[in-house]
Order: sequence, then C-alpha cells, then structure tokens
Amino acid sequence: MAKTAIVIGGSMGGLFAANLLLRAGWDVRIFERSDIPLSSRGAGIVTHEGLRQVLTLSGVAVTDNLGILITKRRAFDRSGTLLAELDLPQILTSWSRLLSLLMAAFPQDRYHLNHAVDRVEPGGADQLAKVHLANGQAHETHLVIAAEGLRSSTRQLLFPQQSSVYAGYIAWRAVADQSQLSSSAQGFLADAFCFSQIPGEQILTYPIAAPDSVNRIQTNLVWYRKTSEAQLESMLTDRLGQRFEGGIPPDRIDPQHLQAAIAQAADRFHPCWSEVLAKRIGPLILQPVFDLESSAMARERLALIGDAAFVARPHIGQGVTKAAGDALALAECLADIRDGRAPAVVEALATFSKRRVPVGSNAVAQARRMGTPIAMAHLGSSSAEQSALMQHYSNPEHLLRETAVEIAGVAHLR
Ligand SMILES: Cc1cc2nc3c(=O)[nH]c(=O)nc-3n(C[C@H](O)[C@H](O)[C@H](O)COP(=O)(O)OP(=O)(O)OC[C@H]3O[C@@H](n4cnc5c(N)ncnc54)[C@H](O)[C@@H]3O)c2cc1C
Repeated sequence: MAKTAIVIGGSMGGLFAANLLLRAGWDVRIFERSDIPLSSRGAGIVTHEGLRQVLTLSGVAVTDNLGILITKRRAFDRSGTLLAELDLPQILTSWSRLLSLLMAAFPQDRYHLNHAVDRVEPGGADQLAKVHLANGQAHETHLVIAAEGLRSSTRQLLFPQQSSVYAGYIAWRAVADQSQLSSSAQGFLADAFCFSQIPGEQILTYPIAAPDSVNRIQTNLVWYRKTSEAQLESMLTDRLGQRFEGGIPPDRIDPQHLQAAIAQAADRFHPCWSEVLAKRIGPLILQPVFDLESSAMARERLALIGDAAFVARPHIGQGVTKAAGDALALAECLADIRDGRAPAVVEALATFSKRRVPVGSNAVAQARRMGTPIAMAHLGSSSAEQSALMQHYSNPEHLLRETAVEIAGVAHLR
C-alpha cells in the first residue's frame, strides 16, 4: 500500500483511528507500550449516539451487545430523600467492553504490544516522519498519530507549552456486582443514574454491563472530593515512599488512605453509597482530575488525538466520544490522500487541527464549569461567575440534566 500510518497507543483513541484509517486504505500499525493486553482502565462509560455511530464506522457491529439501557436519573440527600428525578435514556457500558469490541475489529497482527515509543521526528512536506522505539528500532512512515493519553511524551517533546493542570480534586472509582448489594441499596441504585452531593464532594453511581456479559449488571461508582495538592502528594506516594506522577497503581495506594475514604463515605452520604465501596470487586481506583488544553493538534506529519491533546474533567462523560470524534475528523481530513508521500498529508493535518482544537477547548470549558462547585467549595473568595456556577450546580435538577450528556460536535458527525 502507498500510505503508511503508525499509531502510538493502542487504547480507545488509537483503536478508533487505526480502524478508520485501515478501512480507508492505509497500511496501519499500532505500537502499544504495555506488554500485556489493556483491560481494566477506568470502569463505566456513558455512551452517546455520536459515539455509537463512530463505532459503526470503525467496523464494530453495534447491536444490543453494547451495554444496558437506563432511562432515569435521580438525586438523593443523605437521608435518602429524593430531591429530583429526570427521564433520560442512555446506554451505559464498561471501558473494557468497549475496548474489546474495538480490538475485535482490528487485525491482531497489526497491533504490537511491548512497543514503547521513545521519540518521534515529525518529518515535513518532503520528508517522512520517523518513529523511534525504546527497543532501538526506528520506522519511517507517512503519518504518525499519537494517541498516548494524558501523559503523552510525544506531546511533551513536540508541544512543550501544552501541559496538564491539576483541577483541585480527585475521583475515587469502584465497581460492585449489583446482585451482591442489599435489597435496600438495590432499591436506591439499581435502575438509575444516581447522584448525591455536599459542598466539595459529589458521589454518583450508574449500572453498567459487565465486561464479559451484558446480562451481568454492575454498579459503577465515582466519588469526587476536593483535595489539596499536599494531600494529593501524600495519596500518590506509596508506603515505601515512592512517588507516582499523575496517578498511582491501585495496589500501591497506602491502605490508610483507602480506609479513611471508605469511613468518610459512610459519614457523608446515604449508606447505599458506602455499601458499593465496601462490596467493590477489584480495587478502588484513585483518579486525580486534570485539565489539559492544546493550541495545536498537529505538526508536520504528526497528529495528536484523544487525551494526548485535550482532557476534560469526567463530568461531561465525553473522554471516549472525543477520542472517537478526533479519529473520525482525522480520517475525513485524510480522505482524499492517494499517495502518502504527498505534501498534502501535512495540509490535511493542519486542517484537522483547526477543526478539532475548538471542539476540545469547548469540552474542557464545559467540564471545568461543572466541576466548579467541587473545586471552589470552602474558598472564601470566588468570582461572580464562579458563585453563579456554584449556585447553578447545587440545584440537583441542573446536575441531572447536564452531567454526561451528548455535546454537539464532540463525536464530529455532520
Ligand atoms: C479511571 C478512569 C475512568 C474513566 N472513565 C471514563 C468514562 O466514564 N467515560 C469516558 O468517556 N471516559 C472515561 N475516562 C477517560 C477515558 O478513559 C479516556 O478519555 C480515553 O481512554 C482516552 O483514550 P486515549 O486513547 O486518548 O488515551 P488512553 O486511554 O490514556 O490510552 C493511551 C495509551 O497509550 C499508551 N502509550 C502511552 N505512551 C506510549 C508510548 N510512548 N509508546 C507506546 N504506547 C504508549 C498507553 O499505554 C495507553 O494504552 C476515564 C479515565 C480514567 C483514567
């Protein structure tokens, strides 16, 4: 084939891009750093119509195998009193399930585990790009797509001014098997997207399809907590004093932080939430919340997509949809390229960047607005805009209506 592409990162963004480009005639390979298949990153994923359409274009047969349909959202206070209810049908699934569907659509012999990329030379109109691997190999290619996530080293090397900023709060994430919850907890949480909030904290759950079967239902919990940088520093340090940058593997979290969190959940929220934490299967995941914005998503023959370019706080539930939308926009911009050597690849990537930067910026801004009541709680001084946002989102009806709903343009469908 006359058009070669190397995708760095074999997670959501990388698989969307690779599947779409493969179907458009590109000779695509994925280089993934991990030496074992990806599986348990994140937990529940809210799907949107736009995401389902990009899945179909990527070669995934979207049937009722995707997830489970939920029609209600509810907000409760600590005593379990219903504060607000909303009808809002959505299909909810798990990160692992979505990943396995995308993996199945991509030829295994083009997906290379244990291929960490060290450095990229982006080439130019008359020069191919070059991808250097940690194992010493180097590959020339017409196109490079960096789908390396929040800590993308390619972004850090080629776009050093674009870096992530800690939002001032963390999320604890856990999953429990719904059948193991008490009938009281099931009564609250089983059939709806449920919320509860107090100043500086928000807890939510929603049912998801288990990774191995849509017939097994799990409860996915996310608990946002305002957390100072000093507290975060301590939480990202294991018992032996090793400090992890940006996120800590669950099995390295100091148990005293886990025990404190579980006890505090019981103090602050209705017991149904702490029961999910207590009965979780798998680890409690600590996710520090970051904002990342980029002023450019392309340079010469290199494109940045997904979390490598923009990370919006999880309130808008668009991380995967945005990665899918970036991949689709990229494939569309490259649609007329017949010969990968042509300088037109560089122009196509510039167009892609111009189209997607505003979409990423808009997503980050909306997610930042939604996180204001958590980040700004207990602070004496706040601007008029921040005060208005805090008031707006302390109304549970607004929270129900605006959390994790489709944002026009993110999936890039016309
Ligand atoms: C705990 C958690 C929960 C989440 N929940 C949700 C949710 O409910 N809904 C939602 O839409 N989104 C959610 N997200 C966000 C979502 O997972 C991301 O937006 C999405 O995975 C972005 O995909 P990506 O491919 O851009 O990056 P990532 O998924 O971060 O993947 C990057 C990949 O690149 C690989 N890589 C990195 N550097 C190199 C290198 N140098 N060489 C080779 N490979 C490399 C990594 O190993 C990794 O596999 C969650 C994220 C986390 C962390």
